[in-house]
Amino acid sequence: MAFAEAQWIWKDGELIPWQHARIHVLSLAVQFGSSVFEGIRCYATSEGPAIFRLGDHLRRLEDSCRIYRIDVPWTREQLAIACGTVVERNGFDSCYVRPMVLRGYGAMGMLPAGSPVETYVCAWPWGTYLGDGALESGVDVCVSSWHRPAPNTLPSLAKAAGHYNNAQLIKMEAVANGYAEAIALAPDGRVSEGSGQNVFLVRDGALVTSPSDGTLLLGITRHTVMRIAQELGIDVHEQPIPREMLYTADELFFTGTAAEITPIRSVDRITVGQGTAGPVTRALQKRFMQIVQGEIEPLEEGWLSHTRALVDAPAVAATGAVRSG
Ligand code: PMP
Repeated sequence: MAFAEAQWIWKDGELIPWQHARIHVLSLAVQFGSSVFEGIRCYATSEGPAIFRLGDHLRRLEDSCRIYRIDVPWTREQLAIACGTVVERNGFDSCYVRPMVLRGYGAMGMLPAGSPVETYVCAWPWGTYLGDGALESGVDVCVSSWHRPAPNTLPSLAKAAGHYNNAQLIKMEAVANGYAEAIALAPDGRVSEGSGQNVFLVRDGALVTSPSDGTLLLGITRHTVMRIAQELGIDVHEQPIPREMLYTADELFFTGTAAEITPIRSVDRITVGQGTAGPVTRALQKRFMQIVQGEIEPLEEGWLSHTRALVDAPAVAATGAVRSG
């Protein structure tokens, strides 16, 4: 097992043992990938564990539910408390938190009426996503032969389980060919995103990232990096990126909750810049880690939700957790 199991999982208002979190094989989530989810990081801070941008993640979960016509019986505040409870009751200092809203066992066809909606919040310790040393030395990536789905096929703003079949094709091909990850192109051949990360490049001191074009997920880390760049006086351009700009970039990096800010040192075996994490990437990384670990004030109120407060004074803490949404 590549991860450590936790003790408790929150399921629709109660904590159940990890091993008991089972669903029927004919659940729509299993048959058709009818499930939406989030990936959130909780960091150790001097004031105990704190979940980063919890309100924004839960808002995106609600958006995903709305897009897929799923009625969630839980409010954002209730889910925020559930996330805090799972971290606290499992005794984690830092971990990855995975809320999921899925369609269960009932309907058999495409119409989900009759399948119950089930909500879970899981958490487990998760280290560096793209391998040991990735955050310092960077990773080698390729451009995937698989493209991202066109905007009128799957709604890329939803974080839905079924979409990750495409992501798995991208990731598996990359790893089979000896790369840590891949960058996928949009159907029009321009740069979209990684299998589970957004992509930024640095050219002449400015940041460039793909716009919200209906082929990529709007990452919360992407937004955080744009805000940090603004604070540091670095220009950010959201613009269509031709593939070859990846090769001519001074610096290149991934952003994502799991990947955090991971430098990319080569694309298709072409060295990016000097082949190491560049100065802009390092400056953003440093600021990002200071914010998520509570060492400096977050740029916006509500970015850090202390799990103890979510559990001890839920009404107040949960309101804080969603303020930035
Ligand atoms: N794109 C995809 C496809 C993802 O799965 C993720 C991870 N959630 C991201 C981008 C980055 O999003 P975030 O920064 O919100 O984790």
